[in-house]
Amino acid sequence: MSILKVARMGHPVLRTRARALDVGEVRSAMFQTLIDDMIATMIEYEGIGLAGPQVHEGVRLFVAGMESGHEKMRVVPFINPVITPVGEETVDGWEGCLSIPDIRGKVPRFKHVVVKALDRRGQPFELDLSDFPARVVQHETDHLDGTLFFDRIKDFRSLTYLEEYGRYHAEREEE
Ligand code: ZN
Repeated sequence: MSILKVARMGHPVLRTRARALDVGEVRSAMFQTLIDDMIATMIEYEGIGLAGPQVHEGVRLFVAGMESGHEKMRVVPFINPVITPVGEETVDGWEGCLSIPDIRGKVPRFKHVVVKALDRRGQPFELDLSDFPARVVQHETDHLDGTLFFDRIKDFRSLTYLEEYGRYHAEREEE
């Protein structure tokens, strides 16, 4: 497995809509390696999600950790994801991004979503997600459309560097 280079904000690949994948491509050895490399890269840089365009691959794939806390994180690949909000409730919550290092900001997202995608074998699956995991898949799916979390911020006064986030904001905001 390889650790991939992560594109940072300003690189045009982050602003380009990624293309959909077909099942044959998904099952190819090259694509399976890409999934494994993206998981390794996400873990190496302590991210909770990583999307294709962030590693210079313009394809509709992201990987995301679907459990937080002390359990070993399960990293799930999502291919051609489609998100449908359940209800209209939105919540503000902290986000960061491996393509915008060392910054945190508060972003409104749908509280509850259903995500449909293909798994790494090309089989359809569906997840019903609320709160933080719902936030993660919305953030990652945005990457596939060339959208960064800065674009979603309503109030830029929440922006903070990571060090100051840890010092002044992290504990208070734990849900
Ligand atoms: Zn991101």
